[in-house]
Amino acid sequence: MTCPSHSRKQAQPQRRPDPLRLLHLLQRETGPAAAGPARILVVDDDGRFRQSMVTMLEMAGYRCLAAAGGDEAVRLLAEQEPDLVLLDLLMPGMDGHQVLDRLRALDREVGIIIISVDTTWDSLRQTLRRGADNFIRKPYAPDEVLAAIESCLQKRELRRQNRRMLQQRQVSEQLHRFLVNHSPDCIFILDTEGIIRFANRKMHSLLGYPREGLLDRPFATLVADPAGIDCAAAGGGGGGARKRVTLDVELKKRCRAGEAGHELIPAELTLMAVTCRDASGGGRVACGMYGVARDITERKKAEALISFQAHHDQLTGLPNRVLLNDRLDLAIRQAQRDGGRLAVLFVDLDRFKMVNDTLGHAQGDLLLQAVARRIANCVRRGDTLSRIGGDEFVLLVPRLKLKKDASRCAAGILEILRAPFMLGVHEVFVRASIGIAVYPDHGDTPEELLRHADMAMYAIKEKGRDDVAFYHPGLDRRYARRLSMESELRNGLANNEFVLEYQPQVNMGDGSLRGLEALIRWDHPARGRLLPTEFIPWAEENGLIVPLGNWVLQQVFVDIRRWKRQGVSPPLVAVNISSLQLHQPSFLGFLVDLLEEHDIDGTSMELEITENIIMNDASGAIRRLSRLTDIGVRVAIDDFGTGYSSLSYLQRLPVTTLKIDQSFIRRIGPGSSEDSIVSAIVAMARSLGLGLIAEGVEQELQARYLGRIGCHLAQGYLFASPLGHDETGRYLSRKSA
Ligand code: C2E
Ligand code: CA
Ligand code: CA
Repeated sequence: MTCPSHSRKQAQPQRRPDPLRLLHLLQRETGPAAAGPARILVVDDDGRFRQSMVTMLEMAGYRCLAAAGGDEAVRLLAEQEPDLVLLDLLMPGMDGHQVLDRLRALDREVGIIIISVDTTWDSLRQTLRRGADNFIRKPYAPDEVLAAIESCLQKRELRRQNRRMLQQRQVSEQLHRFLVNHSPDCIFILDTEGIIRFANRKMHSLLGYPREGLLDRPFATLVADPAGIDCAAAGGGGGGARKRVTLDVELKKRCRAGEAGHELIPAELTLMAVTCRDASGGGRVACGMYGVARDITERKKAEALISFQAHHDQLTGLPNRVLLNDRLDLAIRQAQRDGGRLAVLFVDLDRFKMVNDTLGHAQGDLLLQAVARRIANCVRRGDTLSRIGGDEFVLLVPRLKLKKDASRCAAGILEILRAPFMLGVHEVFVRASIGIAVYPDHGDTPEELLRHADMAMYAIKEKGRDDVAFYHPGLDRRYARRLSMESELRNGLANNEFVLEYQPQVNMGDGSLRGLEALIRWDHPARGRLLPTEFIPWAEENGLIVPLGNWVLQQVFVDIRRWKRQGVSPPLVAVNISSLQLHQPSFLGFLVDLLEEHDIDGTSMELEITENIIMNDASGAIRRLSRLTDIGVRVAIDDFGTGYSSLSYLQRLPVTTLKIDQSFIRRIGPGSSEDSIVSAIVAMARSLGLGLIAEGVEQELQARYLGRIGCHLAQGYLFASPLGHDETGRYLSRKSA
């Protein structure tokens, strides 16, 4: 008998397969066959026949259902899903042929045996065409029926398995098609000529082709540099062995009208040789290639980003120390080959800590970014500007012609930093110290050049900042000292190693004493007496200037009390105050407390500040200084003329005195005329109603000149050097005598 499964309705593939449903189907279809005895539906309008058949089948171990007509049979078939039907053809109402039709529509895998008196050839043909498995004539022989049932059940089971396998294949095919088409990777198959025979949807969409648009194209035409592919194809195609090649390529996106060239997509390509059995029955031969290409644009971007971050400073985007070292290394090797020079410029911002402390770190960051931009704009192409620490920048200038080109470049950087930076409402002034080391003169390794440029930079800081210097071997000792400076300063404070000297300020007209300037010294246990220029710059750099400055103020009050006990007292004491100190929120209260505690009038105190105090936080400085002048404390601008003196600031500031810097006094010589800088400063002070004092007066000639142009107060070796406490006491009593 024929197996009718081919005529049954097959599961139609859905247009949009749902992978989970497919998986579920796959699992369900592979499930085990139903266990237990088979269930047989007996359909006959003859009640006696039905009953006897059911009894016989149950005795043979089957489970039975019975239906007296076609309608009932169809219902039971749908509801109970029996394994086999014994079907009568001639029935009133719906007959056996109609039941067969309905059963076919139900698409059930059920065995069908016709038991009928109608045994005409035509009837037989019709039932078999409608899917019946066997045909038994009434009256039946029980053995014949049981044998037919057994064989039909076996056939049915075979059919069921067959059908299950078929469905499974279809479903798994659908699933694979789904996976291939929804793969994030390009999947394709090439024939032995390298022609694309299959390409998934991703490959079409990635490369900008319409569906099927890639078929029949040589794969090599899609690759930017197909040389590697040919060799991969050769490797894959040769011999019978399975070969697999993975390489990075660039795939060409389809050119649209008007586009000059192909957009390239970086991809990781894997090609595998596909082999099949040789037609002549020999071994396996190559019959094409299976390929997977993964778009690695994002990975490349991430790699580039990681590499950028590893080599650049996050805040400014400039190269960092790692990249600088690489480039420096390269530049040194190049210079070695060409017999050329290169320069390393170590740029350190002066008192950057103060900006950070007074305006906050966010503003400090903005300032660093702005500084980086400004310097970057003024360096040559080919130079490397890097940021290697907080406020430390290094400029590498390769292919240097002359040593002086490096100092010219450094001077350019100082110049470009001179204009104020706007940080929100704050106008901030930045100065820098720049140290230079040149290859081969000052070193021949990156480390040595950087260290020597750093040393030269620190020498500038010690000398007074905002300048440029080359490295020289004399700096080595100073550098070593600098490293220990911070801990030594701390020890010095703890061990009371600091002392004050006082330098008199006189009225040149009548020789009377105007006041004393307190100047700090350090009696270093190993290095003897140190002048402030040797340690104040470090203290300002690392913040220790705050406790140090507070110590000075306290000591001044202690000294005044001791003199008072001796019966003398200075008319005024001037104390140098660092910007960092003034910006401490507690500074004002600290000073007021000291004045009260020692019962000293504010008018006998003068604070000497430098212009940068005002420049970097004008409104804050003005507020604080005003509170001081309110209680009579005088405020002098120290080193006047060397800073960024701006008349508009001076007018707004509660300043009482300008101290003309010694550099201008030093320049006063026999030929000095009334139109010198000094006389301009004198005129300016007069017009602003400010007091004036000249410092560093060493010669009679300078004193006479100053008197002539109207500056009568002076301080300098000509009158007195800084004196120790006791000496100052004696000086005071001489003056008051
Ligand atoms: P400054 O405030 O300009 O102090 C004047 C400097 O000039 C002093 O140097 C003084 O000894 C020196 N000097 C005085 N008369 C003459 C002269 O006729 N010719 C020459 N060539 N120099 C003269 P010193 O004591 O070495 O102080 C250097 C700087 O250290 C001071 O410059 C001041 O800025 C700073 N300093 C000193 N003491 C303190 C302090 O207690 N706190 C702070 N923050 N800074 C201080
Ligand atoms: Ca001073
Ligand atoms: Ca000064």
